[in-house]
Amino acid sequence: MPTDITVNGRTYRWMDRPLVVVCVDGCEYDYITAAVAAGAAPFLGRLLAGAGTSIIADCVMPSFTNPNNLSIVTGVPPSVHGICGNYFFDPERGEEVMMNDPRHLRAGTILAAFSQAGAKVAVITAKDKLRKLLGHQMTGICFSSEKADQVTLAENGIENVLDRVGLPVPSVYSAELSEFVFVAGVKLMESERPDLMYLSTTDYIQHKAAPGTPVANDFYAMIDRNLARLDALGAVIVVTADHGMNAKHGEDGQPNVIYLQDTLDAWLGASKARVILPITDPYVVHHGALGSFALVYLPEEAAAQYPAAERIAALPGIDMVLTRAEAAAKFELPSDRIGDLVIVSRRDTVIGTSRDRHDLSGLDVPLRSHGGLSEQKVPLLVNRGVGKQPGTRRWRNFDAFDLGLNLAVRTA
Ligand SMILES: [Zn+2]
Repeated sequence: MPTDITVNGRTYRWMDRPLVVVCVDGCEYDYITAAVAAGAAPFLGRLLAGAGTSIIADCVMPSFTNPNNLSIVTGVPPSVHGICGNYFFDPERGEEVMMNDPRHLRAGTILAAFSQAGAKVAVITAKDKLRKLLGHQMTGICFSSEKADQVTLAENGIENVLDRVGLPVPSVYSAELSEFVFVAGVKLMESERPDLMYLSTTDYIQHKAAPGTPVANDFYAMIDRNLARLDALGAVIVVTADHGMNAKHGEDGQPNVIYLQDTLDAWLGASKARVILPITDPYVVHHGALGSFALVYLPEEAAAQYPAAERIAALPGIDMVLTRAEAAAKFELPSDRIGDLVIVSRRDTVIGTSRDRHDLSGLDVPLRSHGGLSEQKVPLLVNRGVGKQPGTRRWRNFDAFDLGLNLAVRTA
């Protein structure tokens, strides 16, 4: 008999109907309100108008994809689950590595726990980089639209995805990569009716197009149509985001970049300090690996540390410089996986390493990106009413499963 499930210190009620948690990558709240105002998103409009619940929540810092997706599916911040970037400096190995391998994960997921207790669980992600982390120790269906043509029953718990969805494999840089996630989610809800489904898109459109633009509104119209279908199929739906998105360029359209490795090389000597950009992932064409968050590993000499921090903080466009201990406490980060200094830039500014390490040739529109505190506000929407909560509650995107399973009002 299904029972309550406790994961990472939180207890979740067994679902009485399917729950779909959607992480819309890079969903600044304004995308939703602008699409609703333009008449492009009637379903989301009804949620905002009171037919459901709409909350503005905080994502985890850094406001990047992997840390937030993992927070949503574990219900805890990176200090517990360990995934604090897409990319990090592994001190044990002495090398910079992608943080997309489950060996980096320090906590179990809600998805895995429910699947082990007998729930039918499905995960669909746009980019394959997230699939192994999200599907860690989970039984059920787990695949990416990026590699939808390579699914096998043994590896992904499903086969013939292209035939079932009726769409070709999308380009990794496209709106269709995310649309495939939604259409596949609707098809699965019609055919398999999973008890728990997690859908995670990609922020290609948000990197390219500001809220309210025709391209953005078309994208949210697509999301809206598919959410309405899931709603009509009787699912409880929670929509949230991994991070927001802001313009990071000047009036001339050129990105505002602080090339921090070049700056530190000039101050301390070449390669004395090491700048790590946790936004780095294999898909950098649309943001050139530029975001508003960086880690700095300083040389051994303690004397270098305080002046470096103070000088970085004085650079134009810097929002905040924190020591390792300060950042671990303030942003709930694993202290062994961040630098001696944690740097956050302002809303319109990004941080790079060395100028010659960033290929900006793929930026065919002025840079929009994320990573800072300026992208921390994200939507948290439910297609149900929610029991009264303390007005002082700080909502997080990783409250999504708590909302969907524990707080959403259940009806017969
Ligand atoms: Zn993202």
